[in-house]
Amino acid sequence: MSSTLHSFEQAATRAAHDRPQQETVRTSLGTYNRALNAGRERFASWSEARHRARAVKADAVAHLGEYLEQFEARITSRGGHVFWAETAADARDYILDLARRRGVRSVIKSKSMVSEEVHLGAALEGAGLEAVESDLGEFIVQLRNEPPYHIVTPAMHLRRAQIAALFQQKLGTPAGADSAEDLTMAARHYMRARFASAGMGITGANFLIADAGMVAITENEGNARLTASLPPVHVVLTGIEKILPRLTDLALFWPLLSTAGTGQAITCYSSLIGGPRQPGEADGPEEFHVVLLDNGRTRVLADQERRDTLQCIRCGACLNVCPVFHTIGGHAYGTTYSGPIGAVLTPLLRGEKEFGHLSFASSLCGACTEICPVEIDLHHHLIENRRDSALQHVRPLPERIGMRAFRWLMSDAARYARLAQLARHLLRFKNAWVPEGSPLDLLRPWTASRDLPEPPRESFREWWQRTRQERGGHA
Ligand code: SF4
Repeated sequence: MSSTLHSFEQAATRAAHDRPQQETVRTSLGTYNRALNAGRERFASWSEARHRARAVKADAVAHLGEYLEQFEARITSRGGHVFWAETAADARDYILDLARRRGVRSVIKSKSMVSEEVHLGAALEGAGLEAVESDLGEFIVQLRNEPPYHIVTPAMHLRRAQIAALFQQKLGTPAGADSAEDLTMAARHYMRARFASAGMGITGANFLIADAGMVAITENEGNARLTASLPPVHVVLTGIEKILPRLTDLALFWPLLSTAGTGQAITCYSSLIGGPRQPGEADGPEEFHVVLLDNGRTRVLADQERRDTLQCIRCGACLNVCPVFHTIGGHAYGTTYSGPIGAVLTPLLRGEKEFGHLSFASSLCGACTEICPVEIDLHHHLIENRRDSALQHVRPLPERIGMRAFRWLMSDAARYARLAQLARHLLRFKNAWVPEGSPLDLLRPWTASRDLPEPPRESFREWWQRTRQERGGHA
């Protein structure tokens, strides 16, 4: 068993028993669901918007190289720099080297999952730089020294009282200062000085616009805009798949992302950034760099079957509807990207050997595919990942025996019907004579957190035959 699988099983088991945390997450998701439903109503046709978005992203991914070169040419024509980072280490080295050359001592960051992917925070700290997260949720998890819980709402698992206690301990806020306003003001007060003194601002990107050569960022706090404009050096760290062909595509993608992500019609701040400060401009950085990260993405691009996973706009909607995510939360995955998209993408980006087990952590209910605003067929990708895993590795003996037994059972209709009837009798016997949870209850691990339904008196096939015969038809 790989160490990542072992830690996943342990963390998932712990999280599955953490009822208070599940309650916090469910409350937060309840609010999200109501906002999402209202948000989709604002579209003339949500399904048409999804079709259109899929087509635009499919074109962007199919012509990724051309669009990225177009983007690069526009950025460099305004005096910006574009660095193509093949690996996470390349991206980290470029940013650290830039910080050294510019004599940077402190860095302010806004939310960027790619910076989590390349472990930039640890690299900056290791180089002796102070690095402060300016997104409130990211700031909270940074103070707790833990990774984001969710790709859109990093501190979704925490209650306000926990955050108040954290701020008292780390920022010295007074006891009783625990309203949302108190906590936000405390974080703002702490960050203000860091914004003013930072030698470098690092942001992510929601989209890269090829024809305009612009970086599009959506946010609700205004911190990304400050991060991009106050420090003398601005670095955008982003994955290559964030490209959109045209500026006009934002008319669809900005509302689509904010609706799928938070249920908002549009986020509070939408910024377009295209380079360093130009002559005559009042603000903006002296230097502007875009780091385009590959880190396995071109491998996914070369895979015709899976390349549509690069269409993901990181809205987080598939996490929000996933029953597995609801139960085990974001940290149990042990990866940057959690939930269905993480379970699909992580084995592709970081290796099936270490992360293939994530594709098995799914009920395959298909809710993720149904909600995805760019129509990525997530649950079928999970099945494809499982297929590849089964082809590449010898599965554990009990699983192989189980699968052979299943094949034997399913390959003969009469045999299946007889055994299903026997199973119903056994279940009825068990329900009548073996109390749930007793030592004789062999299904105890399963029934510990679920109700065992009463088996029906007749199977679907029996019911079908009987009703057809009653109506005088043929069974
Ligand atoms: S896979 Fe779809 S639903 Fe999930 S984060 Fe990406 S765009 Fe959103």
